[in-house]
Amino acid sequence: MDVRDKLYIDGAWVAPTSSETVEVTDSTTEEVIGIVHLASPADVDTAVKAARAAFEEWSQVSVSERTKFTSRIGEALGARMADIAQLIAHEVGMPLSLSMMIQAGLPISTFLSMADVVEQITWEQQVGNSLVVREPVGVVGAITPWNYPLHQIAAKVAPALAAGCTVVLKPSEVAPLNAYVLAEVIHDVGLPPGVFNLVAGGAAVGEAIASHPGVDMVSFTGSTRAGRRVSELASQTVKRVALELGGKSANVILEDANLEKAVATGVTMCYLNSGQTCSALTRMLVPRSRLADVEAIATREAEAATPGDPFADGTRLGPLVSAVQRDRVRSYIQKGIDEGAKLLTGGTDAPEGLEKGYFVRPTVFSEVRRDMTIAQEEIFGPVLSILPYDTEEEAIAIANDSSYGLAGAVWAEDPERAKQVARRIRTGQVDINGGSFNPLAPFGGFKQSGHGRELGRFGLEEFLEIKSLQL
Ligand code: NAD
Repeated sequence: MDVRDKLYIDGAWVAPTSSETVEVTDSTTEEVIGIVHLASPADVDTAVKAARAAFEEWSQVSVSERTKFTSRIGEALGARMADIAQLIAHEVGMPLSLSMMIQAGLPISTFLSMADVVEQITWEQQVGNSLVVREPVGVVGAITPWNYPLHQIAAKVAPALAAGCTVVLKPSEVAPLNAYVLAEVIHDVGLPPGVFNLVAGGAAVGEAIASHPGVDMVSFTGSTRAGRRVSELASQTVKRVALELGGKSANVILEDANLEKAVATGVTMCYLNSGQTCSALTRMLVPRSRLADVEAIATREAEAATPGDPFADGTRLGPLVSAVQRDRVRSYIQKGIDEGAKLLTGGTDAPEGLEKGYFVRPTVFSEVRRDMTIAQEEIFGPVLSILPYDTEEEAIAIANDSSYGLAGAVWAEDPERAKQVARRIRTGQVDINGGSFNPLAPFGGFKQSGHGRELGRFGLEEFLEIKSLQL
């Protein structure tokens, strides 16, 4: 049992002033694997004051010195990679091999990338008689979700530190244990006290951060609902806000695409992390003339993605993170059935032999209409909606018929034609013919998927202010 009864503030492990705790469960066994003691708003205040005090010196440390720290953090996380992958496979339920590559591998590479990323920033530039300089924005409140917990933390903490900001992090209360590993690593590499602070908690602690006048910027990843609330609170002190929110991304398969590859990859990209991926390709848009073939391939692929123990060899689909999430996803499946979508495979019952653990059957609906709930709302589970279209124009219109605008994909024989369609999709990123995730490319949303970008150069720029010195 991992009991975390301290917060990390001002370079030391300190007891919270609140007596509240949360239990962390293993998604597969439903057993309690950790207990975390939560912070109070008073603890947030202490952490913010420590971060403010530390900002004075940290912001003056040279960029190259700062990235020596981010590199050391990356290396130290690397030394604990296998433990991190195991821990997150327990907390979130992602199959171990994928957890190793993504949940542990990605945050390590994000910290390691900072030394190169800072080289791409124009720190100073002459504009007429002005010297335009870039300075850290100040104290950053980072609020993160549970689905790729350490990746989402690294996507904020690494660039914030490299930019010269100091940080108060509040990880998700659903999968918080990995954040303590990061705090231990940060302590071990000797980052100056107060530069990084960790407070545990849920919405109340998040709200205390978003409203605190000593916080200059809130960088939030999570649901659109909570992102709206964070924006409201932050507006009272006119903070900078970066929001990485939900999605309902379209996978547009054009008439001449390689159907086998497009559909199989599409199903994989819908089910990654049991569908608990903000950029999951949850709407598959296909020419009506090819619907029958698509249905057959999608059903075959979904049925091959048998759910199972994340620690067993060959498991591609683990459980969902929690009972709440499992029940929510199953209720969406019921809604799809009730609204008249055609259920090809899956359903609301537990997968055979997996009554224990937060498992959901990989599900595919076809003949989904664009106004159905399962075509509009983010489900965050292994549920694919296939929507037929008649013309390319209609496909683009359906793709854009969403309050979200996070990601998407286009498949076509001719990559130029695919690119033209991709340009018309109103989202922050679009994969063409299976183009793979680029951890240095800007990641973020249009519309209600948020604003601001993470990762690489564009991600780091979010943490910088611009100042003009007139000479
Ligand atoms: P969530 O919004 O419930 O929680 C996210 C974080 O916000 C948690 O730390 C939570 O404690 C905190 N929080 C909740 N209510 C708050 C409030 N009122 N004020 C301040 N903080 C608050 O989301 P979740 O269930 O943890 O994560 C899933 C959601 O995150 C999905 O909608 C998913 O699409 C989104 N997400 C987006 C991205 C992206 O980059 N766009 C990445 C991953 C997840």
